[in-house]
Parts: sequence; structure tokens; C-alpha cells
Amino acid sequence: MRVYNFSAGPSMLPLPVLEKVQKDFLSYGGTGMSVTEMSHRSKPYEAINAEAESLLRKLMGISEEYDVIFIQGGASTQFEAIPLNLCAHKKADYVVTGVFSEKAFKEAGKFTDAKIAASSKDKSFTYIPRLEKSMFRADADYVHICYNNTIIGTRFRAAPDTGAVPLIADMSSMILSEEVDVSKFSVIYAGAQKNIAPAGVTIVIVKKGLANAPSPLCPTMLKWQTQINEKSLYNTPPAFSTYMAMEVFKWLDGLGGVKAVQKMNEEKANLLYDFIDNSAFYQNKVEKEFRSIMNVPFVSPSEELDNQFVSEAAKLGLIALKGHRLVGGMRASIYNAMPKEGIKALIEFMKKFEKNNK
Ligand SMILES: *Cc1c(COP(=O)(O)O)cnc(C)c1O
Repeated sequence: MRVYNFSAGPSMLPLPVLEKVQKDFLSYGGTGMSVTEMSHRSKPYEAINAEAESLLRKLMGISEEYDVIFIQGGASTQFEAIPLNLCAHKKADYVVTGVFSEKAFKEAGKFTDAKIAASSKDKSFTYIPRLEKSMFRADADYVHICYNNTIIGTRFRAAPDTGAVPLIADMSSMILSEEVDVSKFSVIYAGAQKNIAPAGVTIVIVKKGLANAPSPLCPTMLKWQTQINEKSLYNTPPAFSTYMAMEVFKWLDGLGGVKAVQKMNEEKANLLYDFIDNSAFYQNKVEKEFRSIMNVPFVSPSEELDNQFVSEAAKLGLIALKGHRLVGGMRASIYNAMPKEGIKALIEFMKKFEKNNK
């Protein structure tokens, strides 16, 4: 039996995609071999690589003014790649809204004059600070934000205005979950294992021309231009993860694209938030306008009950609801692949649990 997996990542993948991949596992497209066994220089893999890119371009509306690469290393490797690729003035401004943006800021400090332009740490990251152009240094190489904060459950509602300074966003936990105007960003990056594919592939979308002056210290493997020039095939790519990303993109396209999935995501998130808000038992501490539609943290009246909640839910096939160790409580991660039935089952359980324990 399949469970409803509320893990923040790696997380649920769409069942039709898993089934398709299972069917094609031993012999992909009549090749007599699995994608896991295929040379990345072969025709069938080159086709996968090209189709993954073109589907992503279609889904996100990425123009020819951007390069798109599918590489290894996870979002965390980009924390150091960014200041090594963009370093003309050796200055970078960071908006710190949670654990991952803080990590990105700390990594950058090893290579550049990294500065915190704004932070929401004063209120345990439960909101997104108001940002204005004047808060950023005009000669900064870039401004870095984390668009959706996976652990705390906050999100930006739009790209901040950074004037002429390039804007970079970590979109690991919300990419393809809602419409985003790519033209407002110079770089977008995301690890796959939240909303796209199994761990392994990391997507970097870079405005053309931006990556052509990396630091002389930048290792070849961290240079975006290396992989841009080689169409993501400079070295062995994370082929299976990229292939699954392609299948997820096809699935999303079939659903009606990002616009359609955004509507579903908003419905799912609203169901859960409305239930929490109407309950005196559960609580979500994030300021309403900044609530994530992907990661929904909540608490019950006590830590003891939180623990009991997580273990009882797991017995019913509602798994991985434990909150991040830094914030405690519960967290339901409800990415694109989580069906509405999963949310309904969670709410039914929450009702019962409240009744039995209040
Ligand atoms: C999970 C996550 C990361 C870390 O991703 P890795 O691929 O494990 O390096 C970075 N940023 C955000 C927003 C995340 O959700």
C-alpha cells in the first residue's frame, strides 16, 4: 500500500510517473537497457537531456535569454558556486529568511563581501521582510533570496525590486508550484528532490552573459559556463534523476502546466490552513500573507501531543509529519505530487486526534 508521504524532501512523486518509469525501467524506448545503464553520450540520453530542458522552458516560460543546466551537487553546492560565478565587485547582498538562506549567506562570506541586507530572524523567520531597492548596495554583484522557506513555511509573494542588481533565488522547495515571472530574476536554482524528481539533479537557470566572468579560483565543476558550453554534459550527469524530471515535466504539462497546478496547490493549502485557523487546538505561527503553499508547519498544545500526533498518524499511513528538528511540532509538505485526498485524510486525522486529546 502507498502512504501519503508529507516529507519535506525527498518527497512524493506523482504515481503515474512512478508507474511509467517502472514500466520502462528494464528497457527504455526499445533500447534494451535502463536509463541507469545508458551512456550520457548516446542518442537516447541526448534526447532526454534536450527534452527535459525544452519542457522546463515551456512550463516556466523561460526565454532564449537564459541558459538552463541540469547538474549535480544539490542546491547547497550552489551556495558556493554563486559567489564564485558572480564576483565582478566582490560584494553580495543576502536576504536571510530561514535556515537555507542563512547557509547560503555564510558560504558566500568565504569568497565575497557578503552582507545581510534584511532578515526576519528577529521573529524566528515567521515573516518575509519588506524589501526596497535602497536596502541593497548599488554595486553588489547580486541579491540572493530564498523564495520558499522549507523549514519555517514562509514564501515570497513576488520578486523584490533590486533595481539594476541581479536577483538570484533559491526555488528548491517551490519551483513549478506557482507561476513565476522568470524575467525578474538573473539566476534561479533548485534541487530536484522537493518538487521535481529524486535527488541528484540540480537545475540552474542563468541569464545569458552573466556567467562569463567567474572568479579565477572558481573550480571548473562549479563554473556555470562549463556546463552551459557542454549542454550539461561536461561530465557524467545525474542521468536517472534528469530522466525522471523529464517525466514529471510531461505529467505537469498534461495537467495543464504550472497555472493549473498552482490552482490545485492553492486549494490544497487553503483546505489545511482553514482547518488549522478554525481550530483552537492546532496553530500555525507564520504571518498569514507569507504562508507557504508547499510547507505547512503547525503545533498542537504541547510537545508531548506533537510526538503522539506524529506516531499515530504514521500508523495510518500519513507519514513524515514531524517538524524540522530546529522548530519542532509538525510539518506537512504538500508539493505538486501530493493529491488532495492526502490533505483530506490528514484533516480527518487531525479532527479525530483533537477530539481524543483535548
Ligand atoms: C532542501 C533545500 C536546500 C538544500 O538542498 P540540497 O539539494 O540538499 O543541497 C536548499 N534550499 C532550499 C530552499 C531547500 O528546501
